[in-house]
Amino acid sequence: MGKTVVEIENLVKRYRELIALDHLNLAVEEGEIFGLLGPNGSGKTTAINCILALLYFDKGSVKVFGQEMQPDSYEIKKQIGVVLQNVAVFEELTVQENIDYFCGLYIQDKGTRKQYVDEAIVFSGLENFRKFYPKKLSGGLLRRLNIACGIAHKPRLIIMDEPTVAVDPQSRNRILEGIQKLNREGATIIYTSHYMEEVEQICSRIAILDKGRCVATGTRDELKAMIRMGEKIHMEVLELQPFQIEEIKELRHVYQVEYQDGMLEIRCSGGKHNLVHILEYFGSRNIGFGRVYSELPTLNDVFLEITGKQLRDSAETHQS
Ligand code: ADP
Ligand code: MG
Repeated sequence: MGKTVVEIENLVKRYRELIALDHLNLAVEEGEIFGLLGPNGSGKTTAINCILALLYFDKGSVKVFGQEMQPDSYEIKKQIGVVLQNVAVFEELTVQENIDYFCGLYIQDKGTRKQYVDEAIVFSGLENFRKFYPKKLSGGLLRRLNIACGIAHKPRLIIMDEPTVAVDPQSRNRILEGIQKLNREGATIIYTSHYMEEVEQICSRIAILDKGRCVATGTRDELKAMIRMGEKIHMEVLELQPFQIEEIKELRHVYQVEYQDGMLEIRCSGGKHNLVHILEYFGSRNIGFGRVYSELPTLNDVFLEITGKQLRDSAETHQS
């Protein structure tokens, strides 16, 4: 294990009577892409603002690079790149001027600064928009500018709060690839999202947040191993009798069966040949079926099993 870059212990943050962070504990190690995954309102942004000492908290401690974080910890803040959830750029400056401004807060040497600004422009694919003002940019390009401003000074720790909300798929992929590239180049990344697919795709370790608490932490595979479910099998079955549903429930490794509108959904605990046993049953009973597919558990299943509710409703997907 490397060095701990961010350490949060028993952090409590209230907004009047609302407890936004409820004894939160987290440790982010050097070199990780650490994902903070949780539904809207679970406390992700509040946690980020506490890490950055942008918010006072009620209890607990936050250490960054081993030191207690204070509002005036400028030496630490210099080494952090922040991409906030709400785009924060200057309307009266062009793309290039914006990046130069933010980079200039940290990098004094003119030559280095020019080089860093150019690299950030290429990195975020804004070469053709250098002279554009923010209001002329699409949502996706604006997000990319927001990111370029946050990372141009080559910080050791980069914190990104939902950088892909409401961006087109092309920009989203570019952003996700960019994060991985920054990480390969040595930056530790904290990435928040309520899109579990993204977190699964890029994060080396994940903390699942619910109501200001960390309900589970681990790698993607560790989180999935925490739950009972091994796989979920879907089958199109036109007709099924109640007693047959009961019989399916009795099959090995099967722990939950739902049948609705001609679709059968079978949850199995980790075991081999689940699908084979189920198909054998259908064969022995001579029950016809259509399409069959099997799904491995997702982080949503982990969230569902731990908290009893969906991470997000499936109708809400990426907007483009
Ligand atoms: P997330 O980023 O995961 O969506 P937030 O940290 O923004 O969650 O919010 C956590 C909880 O705190 C939510 O219930 C939210 O309504 C509340 N909250 C956030 N900011 C404020 C604020 N400035 N004043 C009062 N309540 C707030
Ligand atoms: Mg937020």
